[in-house]
Amino acid sequence: MSTQGPLIEMLRGAIEPRRDEMIADLARFVAIPTGRNHAPGLDEFRALVTARLEALGARTESFPGDSKPSWLSDEGNPGPSSSPLPVSVACTRDAPGTPRILLAGHLDTVFDPRGSFQRLTIAPDGRTATGPGVVDMKGGILIALVALESLAQCGVDLPWTFFLNSDEETGTYHSASALRRLSPRYAYGIALEPALPGGALAIERKGSGQFMIESRGLAAHAGRDFFAGESAVYALAAVLTRVASMSDQDRGLTVNVGPLKGGEAANIVPDYAAAWGNVRFPDPRGADELAASLDALATAPDDMPSITVRRSFNRPAKPITPAAERLALTARRCAESLGQSLPFAATGGVCDGNIMQDAGLPTIDSMGVRGGGLHTSGEWIELDSLTERALLLAVLLEHLARAGTDEPR
Ligand SMILES: [Zn+2]
Repeated sequence: MSTQGPLIEMLRGAIEPRRDEMIADLARFVAIPTGRNHAPGLDEFRALVTARLEALGARTESFPGDSKPSWLSDEGNPGPSSSPLPVSVACTRDAPGTPRILLAGHLDTVFDPRGSFQRLTIAPDGRTATGPGVVDMKGGILIALVALESLAQCGVDLPWTFFLNSDEETGTYHSASALRRLSPRYAYGIALEPALPGGALAIERKGSGQFMIESRGLAAHAGRDFFAGESAVYALAAVLTRVASMSDQDRGLTVNVGPLKGGEAANIVPDYAAAWGNVRFPDPRGADELAASLDALATAPDDMPSITVRRSFNRPAKPITPAAERLALTARRCAESLGQSLPFAATGGVCDGNIMQDAGLPTIDSMGVRGGGLHTSGEWIELDSLTERALLLAVLLEHLARAGTDEPR
């Protein structure tokens, strides 16, 4: 039972005329710098989005940010340590009926708030535009707002919660516990990450984890006392050759190393070196194996040189499950009812959908807009996807609230 033709036409009539307004909204969203825990920008953008949700009758619950392991901050990506911990919010519209839907979006981008990439720039042919976070995921948040507003405008009253965090791009360390607590209360999860190339829906995602390897040796003058020293750099390098052999292309296991740190001057035997890295794995077994292999690198604390390993596997793998597949197939049928296609694909990229599904919520997570160049100064959006994906999301939300997922065929 798909969304009825007359309602589809009403929703189309509500959404398609808003194209120019959506582009203007997108320009406004993109011009608010929300990268690297830039609190003023995050606060401004959060207030703007929650005000639109509250205008639909939603109430807002705020979650303080949890702290993050300090060794991760050495990677240089998160903002100054004096910044407040990023908060997350959940805006909930209560309405009669189940099942309930959890939408998830991140307000943050990867871009330096003081960088040169700050504005939406529309291409001369009017088909695409570039801007920081234009697809990842300010465009995705915008289509969700327009879908919810259009459903209300068409008299469709459905219950939903829209979770908005501020730290997805730095690993969701501050908001994962709030998202995990919320997820099991819902029937369907939808995250608004950008579509994969060709508009595809990601139905399988690898998991991801961070690690840090520290090496401690003994400093010495490189000329006078070289053999009295113990190089932490050489010790780390020896360990890294073992790390290099942990990747396995056939099994989808990857271990990347960088950045590295070690030594102070060429004439001192270095007493400290460190390497940070990232692992990806397709399933819990792969995660366990990589964790065990990394842990096995550590030495006793008083060994000379000594090796210490820290790790945090913050994003569990998101393999396809029967419930998630039914949800994806329902989304595809909604797309087909609109004359759109929704191919499926797998990706090594991770997002909050990994956390939602691991917490027990069947989730599809790339229902946002189409574009590319994510995390680069060429990030771009296909402007037609604003109205197309808003309409698809509206039809899917209505269908899920009324009929749930279609039975497997
Ligand atoms: Zn994203």
